Amino acid sequence: MTTNAEPAHGEIRDAVARLCRDFPGEFWRALDRERAYPKAFVERLTKEGFLAVLIPEEYGGSGLGLDAATAILEEIHRSGGNGAACHAQMYTMGALLRHGNHEQKAKYLPKIASGELRLQAFGVTEPASGTDTTRIRTFAHREGDHYIVNGQKIWISRAQHSDLMLLLCRTAPREAGKKPTDGITVLLVDMREAVKSGLTIRPIRTMLNHATTELFFDNMVVPVDNRIGEEGRGFRYILDGMNAERILIAAECIGDGRFFIERATQYAKTREVFGRPIGQNQGVQFPIARAYAEIEAAAQMVTTAARLFAGGQPCGAEANMAKLLASEASWRAADMCVQTHGGFGFAEEFDIERKFRETRLYQVAPISTNLILSYLAEHVLGLPRSY
Ligand SMILES: Cc1cc2nc3c(=O)[nH]c(=O)nc-3n(C[C@H](O)[C@H](O)[C@H](O)COP(=O)(O)OP(=O)(O)OC[C@H]3O[C@@H](n4cnc5c(N)ncnc54)[C@H](O)[C@@H]3O)c2cc1C
Repeated sequence: MTTNAEPAHGEIRDAVARLCRDFPGEFWRALDRERAYPKAFVERLTKEGFLAVLIPEEYGGSGLGLDAATAILEEIHRSGGNGAACHAQMYTMGALLRHGNHEQKAKYLPKIASGELRLQAFGVTEPASGTDTTRIRTFAHREGDHYIVNGQKIWISRAQHSDLMLLLCRTAPREAGKKPTDGITVLLVDMREAVKSGLTIRPIRTMLNHATTELFFDNMVVPVDNRIGEEGRGFRYILDGMNAERILIAAECIGDGRFFIERATQYAKTREVFGRPIGQNQGVQFPIARAYAEIEAAAQMVTTAARLFAGGQPCGAEANMAKLLASEASWRAADMCVQTHGGFGFAEEFDIERKFRETRLYQVAPISTNLILSYLAEHVLGLPRSY
């Protein structure tokens, strides 16, 4: 399945595809049944340096741009795997890279690059605030050299498989600032210490294998030295990271879409009903061709957004459009793939029902479709703010 456009980072893609061949469908299926974390897969990715591509060379990484990271995640998903177990390391570390001080970078980045430390948890969402991040209530009071943190987070993925967490909390009430985004602070929480001092982690079982959890902070102690940037200015530190997150998730959707299209094409060529391959019928061909066109178009937007981000240029509109188009295209490709496979689309051993469940998430998280549309309407088209 080719177009004339040669995908970028061909060597990285080949290397990731080779690695993924050691983690076939049976591997992911077994974990899915148990809702278990793909530890061996994450360790291999770390060992081969793929999770450190964005870390500058001086700290032990490869110093590549976000476009390289999109190639890695896309290939993982195209192979039938899932990058959600480790993708956060790529976008959370942006806050540390851009806004951390020299001591923090020297202390953490080399260990993250080597795999000694895992930075896989990003604590933003709370039960009461939903998408309205400025209404988070988790509060960090300063007492001398420490913050004392109280509150709750929900849907915090990989918290049980991470040593560090980037935590968004309030250090001043929403009403006290000039803007609702004032008074929000980013803390780098050492989870190994935190579980001894007020952090409780409770897993949430979901329709997909995502290692997501609920967190409770009861007087959790975090040293002031672990604050990223200035107190009260944290919201702007994570905005860049959110664009990176959207672009990387969009790349995963492109990988999913390609997985579904490849599987459907293969099946439609070989499955014979009424004495001929089902793919000879236009009613079967056309949905596959449409899904292909939609994924290729969305992939162009992902490439554009990733290049802008890597070049340090504004990319809010492109990052949001990439995530919108890719998540919808991958979902339609998933539906098409189930339909093409008939009954076998529902059989566990084909991996399609699993990928179908997995790709559905991306129209809700990390940001839902409606909120992307609101962003485009308001910030790109200048329409009145709707909320
Ligand atoms: C498996 C999983 C993993 C996750 N991992 C993480 C994580 O690691 N870290 C983290 O911080 N969060 C995580 N999340 C949370 C995720 O980012 C949120 O679920 C997502 O942003 C949506 O927020 P919400 O669930 O609070 O929905 P809500 O904000 O309650 O919205 C519910 C629905 O209403 C719609 N809606 C709300 N307001 C408006 C409006 N003004 N106009 C139109 N429509 C609107 C939304 O689009 C959505 O469809 C995860 C979620 C899941 C399910």
